[in-house]
Amino acid sequence: MEQTRALAGEKAAPPDYPAAKAPSHPVLSAGTLGLSRGVPSVLDAGRATHTVSGRMALALALDRLGIGRGARVLLPSYHCLALVEPVVRAGAVPVFYALRRDLSIDIDDLARKALGARAVVAVHYFGFPQEMAALREFCDARRIALVEDCAHAFFGSCAGRPMGAHGDVAIASTWKFFAVREGGCLVARGPAARLRSPGLRYEAKSMLNALERAWEMGRLPLLRAVLGPLFRLKDRLRDRRKRGGGGAGAVRDVPTGGLQFEESWLGRRPSRFTRFVLAFSNRRRIARLRRENYAILLDGFHGLPGTRALFPALPEGVVPYVFPVVVEDDSVFPALKRRGVPIVRFGEFLWQGVDDPVALEYSRKVLQFPCHQEMTRAEIDWIVAEVRDAVLKGASRCGE
Ligand SMILES: *Cc1c(COP(=O)(O)O)cnc(C)c1O
Repeated sequence: MEQTRALAGEKAAPPDYPAAKAPSHPVLSAGTLGLSRGVPSVLDAGRATHTVSGRMALALALDRLGIGRGARVLLPSYHCLALVEPVVRAGAVPVFYALRRDLSIDIDDLARKALGARAVVAVHYFGFPQEMAALREFCDARRIALVEDCAHAFFGSCAGRPMGAHGDVAIASTWKFFAVREGGCLVARGPAARLRSPGLRYEAKSMLNALERAWEMGRLPLLRAVLGPLFRLKDRLRDRRKRGGGGAGAVRDVPTGGLQFEESWLGRRPSRFTRFVLAFSNRRRIARLRRENYAILLDGFHGLPGTRALFPALPEGVVPYVFPVVVEDDSVFPALKRRGVPIVRFGEFLWQGVDDPVALEYSRKVLQFPCHQEMTRAEIDWIVAEVRDAVLKGASRCGE
């Protein structure tokens, strides 16, 4: 895992961007909770084991498939390190396959690399399902396990079946779809794994983090007025403890977002708070608003020179993770970060040696904009205005 460490350093070192002015991922709001069923999701594909992150779910998945030392695992060349770490941790060998420009799996390339492989991981990029029937056949013919990575596709269906149902196992990253700060799940046919409690401090921190994040983003102002003083007291106590050098009892951060694979979190379940929010979130609202916001962004970016929506159509049943756009001008990403626009580049860091041209290009040029259910219309309009301004300024500079 040497490489990961180096990359983590690299990521921390350069630019010091200001905090994002809108939430890149869902935050709690007055509309978050509400009972609603009937939206297909990866949870319908089998028995779910809830974990603290998607990468932990993948580690459990490999374990369940008996994939260990020396096994070859086929991974997409366009990936995040969270996808590679569990494979390397298991002692397995990641082998990277190519994708087409629409991010569909290049089955010919997969076939060239499949000899001796134990598993294929397929990613439904940004919520848009891969063609699973052909891939399922491919895997069956070669007795290769199929792992469906639904980190971007918690909701939705694929060829009439819920996401994750085509794979031997599926994993997902719940914090990308729900207003929580941690969480993943493994979905498989066998019984759910029994995981340990994450501990009381973590339980508390998980809830406080979610509330504080919501307040930072201007949500739940009434609750803040009531609970705010309590939180300030908590912060004062924490500061005092820090000054006293009491590092031993320090509460760690919720283990998502970072680049490291934290071994100690492998056997832990997410907090009760996270599980509560997952169980009682308004799923219809999530699906509806993500689709609506996606359509607004698609419209807002329409005709903007040097940009192209990676998925210009939103088929029935797709619940998008984000709105991904190919932006030609490399100066737009830092310009937007400086303006506090909440953007992320998926696959910004690729595993050493990956030289697939599509992956290299997209890792630099694909910017993902939030379309989640907790974005307000004003925030989306502001993002569109900032992007239009940054892109057009960049274009005029080039023309000088
Ligand atoms: C986010 C993500 C994961 C899991 O990430 P966690 O941060 O550990 O939840 C796995 N695969 C893909 C493609 C992802 O984007």
